Amino acid sequence: MQQYKICTVCGERFKAGLTSNRKTCSPQCASSNRRTLAKSGLAKKMSKKALELQPSNPLLGRFETHIHAKEWAIKSPEGQVFRCRNLLNWLREHEDMLDGTIKQAFVGFSQIKRSMKGASKRNNRTWKGWTVVDWGE
Ligand SMILES: [Zn+2]
Repeated sequence: MQQYKICTVCGERFKAGLTSNRKTCSPQCASSNRRTLAKSGLAKKMSKKALELQPSNPLLGRFETHIHAKEWAIKSPEGQVFRCRNLLNWLREHEDMLDGTIKQAFVGFSQIKRSMKGASKRNNRTWKGWTVVDWGE
């Protein structure tokens, strides 16, 4: 069965599949729609949302913004304390010290932090002997 949608720009009916998330009938209307969104600040909000989603996929790309940079103090299995502004960057630079991948370490430290905040049911206070001493928000 053919599905129709109403273009949000010109109001024209256009063919679109059920799974399609198209909201406009043509490339012209799509770009006009993007300009409108950008003007209203909605597009900005959406790209911020994309940034917030990024930590679950830390290896897909680098995002270094002040908003998302958090201060961490972590302790190695040898008892050495390291301070870093951006945990993910620090892990990338010290990958050879990690008994696992950068992603595993990042998830590990995040779980420790959640446990310390009491936000996790699981009580993970260490990752491969590493612990979290402190962090900033
Ligand atoms: Zn249209």
